[in-house]
Amino acid sequence: MKKLYFLAIALVAFSCKEAPKQDASEVAQEAEAPKDNVITYEEYSQPEPTEPEATEYYEPKVPEVKPGKNGAPPSDAIVLFDGSDLDAWVSSKDSVSLAPWHLNKNGSMTVADKTGNIQTKQEFGDMQLHIEWKSPAEVRREGQNRGNSGVFISGIYEIQVLDNNDNPTYVNGQVGSIYKQGPPLAMASVPSGEWNTYDIIYHMPEFNAQGGKIKSATVTVLHNGVLIQDHTEIKGTTPYIGWPKNPAHGKGPIMLQDHGDDSRVSYRNIWVREL
Ligand code: MG
Repeated sequence: MKKLYFLAIALVAFSCKEAPKQDASEVAQEAEAPKDNVITYEEYSQPEPTEPEATEYYEPKVPEVKPGKNGAPPSDAIVLFDGSDLDAWVSSKDSVSLAPWHLNKNGSMTVADKTGNIQTKQEFGDMQLHIEWKSPAEVRREGQNRGNSGVFISGIYEIQVLDNNDNPTYVNGQVGSIYKQGPPLAMASVPSGEWNTYDIIYHMPEFNAQGGKIKSATVTVLHNGVLIQDHTEIKGTTPYIGWPKNPAHGKGPIMLQDHGDDSRVSYRNIWVREL
């Protein structure tokens, strides 16, 4: 027993011995060793400045944009719908016919049931989109058939519009989802019959010469000011049935959905800033 006790003490003493010190060249070598995946900045690799002015610059100047009040378009926005007409929109059936939806006297438009989707004449790439929508106060249906519409960016990626108030459905198809791909981070709807806002920041995908996708699109969405999509990868088109597809494309229209089931969804105050 005594022997074992001394053996234990000897082992502890040995393990507590200081590790041999590295010499200076070994330390330097370790510091210079390349570190995988570590971000470094060329502009900050010079000797560090000691005066504040050395890290301040004035050119190029930042453009001035006058913000709008209460969701009104900023000074550099392209206004797609301000309530006066549907001139910026066409039917998605042939991309040329007049948009057949109802123009209301209160500055909004409403889906004309079973007339089909409508889309912008102009095509957009990277953009900041503001759009307001409202599902009817009078509830008539359930699930995906209650106040279903959608904002399709590049004409093919749907951000879901749905009356989800006391109306559960599959989470990757609920309001604010990238349809059948990405549930929102939160359900941030106002009560049925009140106006919702979507602020959408979208970056297009990139494709190689053979048409293969080499960089995914991303989308950020604020729903009534609440972040619900945080730079989310768009994995492809958003079909009702089947997997997302990735056809090569450039700029595309903004399309609004007629779900064809008496949705009575309305839109107003739509503007976009190209990025
Ligand atoms: Mg929809």
